[in-house]
Formats: sequence, C-alpha cells, structure tokens
Amino acid sequence: MTPEQLIRPEILALSAYHVADATGLVKLDAMENPYRLPEALRWELGGLLADASINRYPDPRGRELQQALRRAFDFPAEQDILLGNGSDELIQILAMALARPGATLLAVEPSFVMYRLIAGFTGMRYAGVPLRPDFSLDEAAMLEALEREEPALTFLAYPNNPTGNAFARDALDRIIRAAPGLVVVDEAYHAFAGGLSVMDALGRHDNLLLLRTVSKLGLAGLRLGLLVGAPAWIRELDKVRLPYNVNVLTQVAARYALDHVDTLQAQAAMLVEERGRLMRAMSTLDGVQVFDSAANFILFRVADAPRVFAGIQARGVLIKNLHGGHPLLDNCLRVTVGAPEENAAFLAALGAELKTE
Ligand SMILES: *Cc1c(COP(=O)(O)O)cnc(C)c1O
Repeated sequence: MTPEQLIRPEILALSAYHVADATGLVKLDAMENPYRLPEALRWELGGLLADASINRYPDPRGRELQQALRRAFDFPAEQDILLGNGSDELIQILAMALARPGATLLAVEPSFVMYRLIAGFTGMRYAGVPLRPDFSLDEAAMLEALEREEPALTFLAYPNNPTGNAFARDALDRIIRAAPGLVVVDEAYHAFAGGLSVMDALGRHDNLLLLRTVSKLGLAGLRLGLLVGAPAWIRELDKVRLPYNVNVLTQVAARYALDHVDTLQAQAAMLVEERGRLMRAMSTLDGVQVFDSAANFILFRVADAPRVFAGIQARGVLIKNLHGGHPLLDNCLRVTVGAPEENAAFLAALGAELKTE
C-alpha cells in the first residue's frame, strides 16, 4: 500500500501550509506584535514558569486562565468559554462537530484561508462568497448564498484578513439573523479595531459565537484562542476538544500576561498609530493603491506584485504576497505593521523597488 492509495484524494491534492523562512529578514509577514513584554515582566514570568508543574497534566478546562480572560476582556458572565490551541484549533473543533455528511461551511472570499482548508480536512462541503472589488461585504450575494447553500457553519472575520477592512455592522447583523446555521464571527484583530465587536450581540442571536485569539495581541508563541458563546453550544463543542489541548506553560504564561493586559493594549495602541503613519506614507508613493485597515496589517496593490515582493525581500524585508490567491487579490501584497524602524525599512525597500519598475 502506498500513501497515494490510502490517503484521501482531497488531502493528496493539498500542499502543506507554507511558512516562509524569515531568517535574517525584517519579519512583517504574519501579523505578529513586534514588541515583547518589558524586561521586568519577562523575569517575573520566568520565575512563574520555573514553578509550573510540567510533570502534571494541565487543568483540562483552563479554569484560572478563563477567569483571567474574563477579567481582561469583559465577556458577558452568562456566556461560556472554550479554549483552543490557537483559534485555528477552535475552527477545527467547530468543523469536526458540525461535519454531518453533506454539511456546508461557508465563508466570504478572500478571507482567512484556514476556513476553506479545515472544511477540506473535516470532509465538509465548502462554499465561498466573493466580496465586492472594494472588499466590502456583498450582502445580497451573502443572503442568496445562505438560502442556496444552507450552511451549517458560516465564518466571518471582523475585521477581515487579508483585506484589513471591517464589514458594515448592520449587514453583519442581518446575515447572522438570516443564517440557517451557526455563525462564528472571528475577531482575531479586535485589539486594533477601535472597539468594534459583535460581543454585544451574543445574547441576541442564539446562532452566534465569538472567536478571539491572543496571537495578534502579542502572544502568538503561546498558541491560545477562545470561543465565547451560549453554554448550550460550548458544552457540545467541548466534547470534540482533545483533553489537555492548552499546555501547562501556556496556561501559566497567558494568565500572567493577561494580568498585564494594559501593557499589551498599550502596544496595540502604538501599532494603531504606526498603522496610520505607514498608510499615509504608502499613499504618497506613485503606483501604490492602499486599502483602509482596522487591523495590524495593510493590504496594498502594485503593478507587479510578484516582482515587488521579491525585490522587497532582496532588500531584507519579508511581507506576504497574495497575488494568485484569489482573483480579487490580483497584484496585492500585505504588510504587517511593525515597530517604527521596521516600518521605515519596509518603506525604504518599497520606495526603492518601485523606482526600478
Ligand atoms: C491569525 C488569524 C487567526 C489564527 O489565530 P491563532 O489563534 O494564532 O490560531 C484566526 N483568524 C484570523 C482571521 C486570523 O487572521
């Protein structure tokens, strides 16, 4: 027996999720927070980690971590929380739990690629609904697709990745109301979105769940995501979660970092200011179309994205090339907002590269 004979054809057709090698480069490709915790906090965290019982299995539900998350983010008391090894794992848990034969997962396009990939992993049908060319939500197309596809599970990233914009809230609410299945609003970029959130709507729609992550807030290395929603949903989804999915060190470190969430939020506020500066500077360059962003990255279009991407990388800066990923992303690149000196390096590389066109 060969792998080709046994592995499912839809898996054979995939290529593994590609992570670019950033060795020696200014890393502006993955929406990471460029800042670490202040030195004094890092040492204190080191002491806590030294005391952590890594000989024991972790608390299976991460109860103390859940309390720290509630203190930091003010989730409504009547909503329950499910912790994941990154929000990627929670997307997978949702799909596994809802993947009846023939069930459909629906998302807008372009959006976060894991929605489509995980539909494939779990055997769900996938339906993509294109955004408008300006990346706004096509509400009529969405409502029509909800009726036609009857998705068991719909994902909406708010703000959206890789486009950076936040969809109109009233349209979002109408879509949640019209959806025949579960709607998960993915707020991975909440820290940069000026308070935009559907959290206030959790009690109003019994088919709405809220997905968050601490990755973009400065804790990407910990792998911690959370799903917030009605106890009746969380109870069932929890059955699909593997025991001990959030490890001891992550639970200790995330609790500590969340007790200092104002430090992380101050870093996010600096990045929002940097985002404004970077957008204004990019807008002055000839041959660059900059799209508005409510996240910690900026989508932009140039005449020849593959060439500009390679040229910027040759000048020492790694960003993300989105050309070829979706027709609406033709000649589009995405840059993560970094620290001022990193953004300056990117701007210099972009400016120099555009001059050679
Ligand atoms: C980055 C990102 C995630 C993944 O977050 P992890 O918690 O690191 O797995 C989820 N959704 C969107 C829209 C993202 O951009």
